[in-house]
Amino acid sequence: VVRRLLVRGRWVVADPAGAPGAAVADGAVLVEGERVAAVGTFAELATRAPGAEVVGDGSGLVIPGLVNTHHHGRGLTSFQLGLEDDYLEPWLAGWRALKPLDAYVDTVYSAMRLIQSGVTTVLHSGVARDMARYVEDTAAHLRAYDEVGMRVSYGVHVLDQHFFTHQDDGEFLAALPADLSGEIEALSAELAAPTADDFAALLTAQAARYADHPRIKLLASPIGPDWCSDGLLRRVADCVGEVGGGIHMHCLESPFQRAWALDGPGGGAVQRLHGLGLLGPAVSLGHAVWLTREQAALCADSGTSVCHNASSNLRLRVGVMPLGELVDAGVNVAIGTDGITLDDDEDMLRELRLVAKLHGLPRGLERAWRPSADDVLGMATANGGRPTLWGDAIGRLTPGALADVVLVDAERMRGVYADPATRPVDLLLARGQRRHVDTVVIGGRVVYRGGGFTGLDTGVIAARLRELAEAELDPLGARWAAAMRRIQPHVEAYYAARPPLSLQSSYVVNSP
Ligand SMILES: [Zn+2]
Repeated sequence: VVRRLLVRGRWVVADPAGAPGAAVADGAVLVEGERVAAVGTFAELATRAPGAEVVGDGSGLVIPGLVNTHHHGRGLTSFQLGLEDDYLEPWLAGWRALKPLDAYVDTVYSAMRLIQSGVTTVLHSGVARDMARYVEDTAAHLRAYDEVGMRVSYGVHVLDQHFFTHQDDGEFLAALPADLSGEIEALSAELAAPTADDFAALLTAQAARYADHPRIKLLASPIGPDWCSDGLLRRVADCVGEVGGGIHMHCLESPFQRAWALDGPGGGAVQRLHGLGLLGPAVSLGHAVWLTREQAALCADSGTSVCHNASSNLRLRVGVMPLGELVDAGVNVAIGTDGITLDDDEDMLRELRLVAKLHGLPRGLERAWRPSADDVLGMATANGGRPTLWGDAIGRLTPGALADVVLVDAERMRGVYADPATRPVDLLLARGQRRHVDTVVIGGRVVYRGGGFTGLDTGVIAARLRELAEAELDPLGARWAAAMRRIQPHVEAYYAARPPLSLQSSYVVNSP
């Protein structure tokens, strides 16, 4: 017997990327098994499926599950672990000193926080310190998503250069105080970094393991063009070709990255990826704050997606991505929270609001533009299908699509009063927050209902995470953290000594 579910709402917004404002009033989504069978009025579908379990009392807003396309699966934030926001480059050095928590518990908690804010699919770009954590943590992350019941597109990471700065690592280390470079060398011998072979073996093994899984897909996540040699990127492309996955990487996040890439091989980061055959519909670039017009056109023409991280870009002071220009160029833009949102809360609904407001250009400029509520919701739903490799199966509630459905409490969003003429998508973008999310269905399974998880205890996981964060580091971990903290001022000094960048922002918000 196929399980039938009717998710009922005062409005159903089935396809945010479709006709603006289209919503079924007094509607419902009929779910059969893991897929959407039909969308229509509740009255009509209740007659068609008399035995179906009904979720929702008809007062809420039903939307497709949100897709978070750039994340690292961390349950505790960098700030919670003691790292203040800074420019990206010195911040990254400090980030490497943060205490590693148990990968399974950390990711379970992260997945729960995302689901609570309406996210049903996450693109998790993996990161690891050493070989032991590379293999074990990857397995633990995937097991966490499997057990929570969340949909994930998981990127196995790899890098082979520029670990500390844009300088050759050997040269950078040679210029450090001898005891510090000696300690880094000693640590590198004990904490072996994964190689290209390790990467290929891990991606191949995990892709095979989850080949038939209903909610898990594997990607390659070379950290970014700056951190990868041409040889490594070719190897990544070959491996992805064999296992049939996609690629997600950070790209042109900071002005320093653009300056380095313009002088470096390939004549720019995106041109270089293009030359190596790495662009295409199964490829997505996180951040992409500093794309030139030519690079935006390359992304649009090749079908390469951009994953926009508005909060992260503000907190790490890398600049504002020219969203309007990328949209105009025809780039598929999706949205991610990167584990570092404006309120430090990983609330995807608040992130959507930030995207909607941050990119409103003043009237009177040559190019006044702002994304509509429908545009932004489309970026966080349907546009997320391509970079996560789920395609049209997620991000819209059309017959045959996977049943990832979110029911938001519209009455609580409205508060004391909201004009009855207010469109539901405008209400969501103006006032929606994590606390308004009532029910989350992933692949036809109700994982969250009435503000609580159906199979998990948030309190138990949170308590376990706190214990882990409070625990002492092991001696090797403590040495690593101390060395990374000592490196941070040297990274700062390296970038402070670079000539001021003369790059012009292409995104005019103000001028002196
Ligand atoms: Zn990131």
